[in-house]
Amino acid sequence: MSRVYNFSAGPAALPEEVLREAAAEMLDYAGTGMSVMEMSHRSKTYDKIIKDAEQDLRDLMGIPDNYKVLFLQGGAHLQFAMVPMNFMKHGVADYIVTGNWAKRAWKEASKYGKANCVASSEDKNFNYIPDCSDLPISEDADYVYICQNNTIYGTQFHILPDTKGKTLVADVSSCFLAEPIDVEKYGMIYGGVQKNIGPAGVVIAIIREDLITEEVWPGTPTMLQYKTHADKDSLYNTPPAYGIYICGKVFQWLKNIGGLEVMKERNEKKAALLYDFLDKSRLFTPTVTDKASRSWMNVDFVTGEKALDAEFVKAAEEAGLSGLKGHRSVGGMRASLYNAVSIEAVEALVKFMKDFEETHQR
Ligand SMILES: *Cc1c(COP(=O)(O)O)cnc(C)c1O
Repeated sequence: MSRVYNFSAGPAALPEEVLREAAAEMLDYAGTGMSVMEMSHRSKTYDKIIKDAEQDLRDLMGIPDNYKVLFLQGGAHLQFAMVPMNFMKHGVADYIVTGNWAKRAWKEASKYGKANCVASSEDKNFNYIPDCSDLPISEDADYVYICQNNTIYGTQFHILPDTKGKTLVADVSSCFLAEPIDVEKYGMIYGGVQKNIGPAGVVIAIIREDLITEEVWPGTPTMLQYKTHADKDSLYNTPPAYGIYICGKVFQWLKNIGGLEVMKERNEKKAALLYDFLDKSRLFTPTVTDKASRSWMNVDFVTGEKALDAEFVKAAEEAGLSGLKGHRSVGGMRASLYNAVSIEAVEALVKFMKDFEETHQR
């Protein structure tokens, strides 16, 4: 067996320890004689799995008691609809459009009310985070929405926007648990777990309790009301049981390495390794030149020549560096440096890029 260095944007690398543990428990979980996949979600054993996962997440992020943690389904995309259906009490929300995912969320919200775009970076193909210190926030806005890390374009909010007192809602799919955050600055934090936490099929939503009410968009299905899931501790219906179990293992892994402060140090170091090389390289150029806007999780770069980009991606793949092809809206390459991507993997990538640079010219 050989494992590659996996730089995929998502679904993405998971800690090898977690996969090994899950493999060891595959046929017989904790003496139950069955896999977690085969187990009733109403069983005592599973109840402990989901409760422990929630508690470990609360410990890691320091989630205050007045926030609910929900394990949901439907991907981040379903949240593009659930957020406005549940939160647009006055029918108005402000969106900061910094990429594809933010734009989709904004468009979806306009089905349920007045969704304003109060800032955008589309003028430069989303390669920076706009100044959000004094935005024209609507007086009657129910919330202000951001996509905190723009997976496709490689930009990230390192400073949160000034929402002028309005509730902040953030899609953190691709930066979930990458560093400590102050949960109280947000009304809601959510993300699909397949980028930085676990297998596809689980969405985690962390929501301040006072925002979870019965007052929702008329006709909202029961399953799409946060209250349905909050009242039943994510066990209203069958949850994505196996996925939650893997998430729980990743939370344990994070606790064991020392928590989010340690993770932050590692992530900062990984991003610095790659950006420092890119800023000096005579072959590769980072697509995000504004340093304050750079994502620590997704690093986009190009050679400036499509054929050379393709050659690089192919050669890297053959050398065991997988998943480096950029998204079609940016082109070139993208290295995703999520939590489970080791410093060693980034060092290997930088070394490979140096060698490639030696032998190739543009
Ligand atoms: C991948 C991604 C999405 C889309 O997630 P799905 O689970 O496929 O719906 C949304 N937002 C961000 C920030 C992402 O990285």
